[in-house]
Amino acid sequence: MTPDLKGRTAVVTGSTSGIGLAIAETLAGAGANIVINGLGTPEENEPIRAKIETDYGTKCIFSPANMLKPDEIAGMITTAQATFGTVDILVNNAGIQHVAPVEEFAAEKWNAIIAINLSAAFHAMSAAVAGMKKQKWGRIISTASAHSLVASPFKSAYVSAKHGIAGLTKTVALECAEAGVTVNCISPGYVWTPLVEKQIPDTMKARGLTRDEVINDVLLSAQPTKQFVTVEQVAETALFLCSDAAANITGANIVMDGGWTAQ
Ligand code: NAD
Repeated sequence: MTPDLKGRTAVVTGSTSGIGLAIAETLAGAGANIVINGLGTPEENEPIRAKIETDYGTKCIFSPANMLKPDEIAGMITTAQATFGTVDILVNNAGIQHVAPVEEFAAEKWNAIIAINLSAAFHAMSAAVAGMKKQKWGRIISTASAHSLVASPFKSAYVSAKHGIAGLTKTVALECAEAGVTVNCISPGYVWTPLVEKQIPDTMKARGLTRDEVINDVLLSAQPTKQFVTVEQVAETALFLCSDAAANITGANIVMDGGWTAQ
């Protein structure tokens, strides 16, 4: 059932860590050439880039494009096209979090979250869609969140950006519907990655809780399964969306949240 992605090229933003790295590795495992992207210098990210080539025998390049900067995002797509010929798969995954009550939420944090978690996906889609439509095949997948469907207090920017990603997904899906290009988002509940680990201290402060209380009473209490979603589960779902079997899944928000939003 694994799709054969040999000869395809995938750009995965925010793929030097967590969910994005797992998606990059899984698409490489299916044969795709990969553009990884994330914070840090090419030298710092060289071990990650080289490991993908060694482990999966595909080509992998690193793009240092900062998702805060529209021109760098467009440049990442241009570089991918120049290096590999096309961008067949675009995964909008880079994301950051900030936890604070709305009256204390720093405007710079709001702007950065909207830029990285929402606007970057628009800029990348805008740059990549024409090539996909022309070749009559493409897959655009964005990592949304259970917070694309429901809210939690103290996450005003994140929840707004993720609701926005769900709307952007539906819109571009309709625009690409007859062109062989599917556009979907995946909405995980809590996945154990550095992004989640880093928000624990702020959540402890905002809610006056201990670390264990945040993990058990805030994070896992939202998920009826009482389990974190794994990065591999998200990555396998992204891979499925690249398959021919998923050719009629478009405009969808694939929820994998341990039952969180069923409540
Ligand atoms: P992570 O912190 O492990 O990885 C984030 C990645 O984004 C890193 O590669 C980082 O370098 C990159 N990044 C951050 N700012 C960037 C910028 N300005 N320019 C380029 N790259 C940048 O996070 P994660 O948990 O793997 O999250 C990945 C995505 O999944 C995010 O969109 C997040 O909102 C979403 N998500 C995460 C969870 C979770 O529980 N971890 C749940 C639902 C959705």
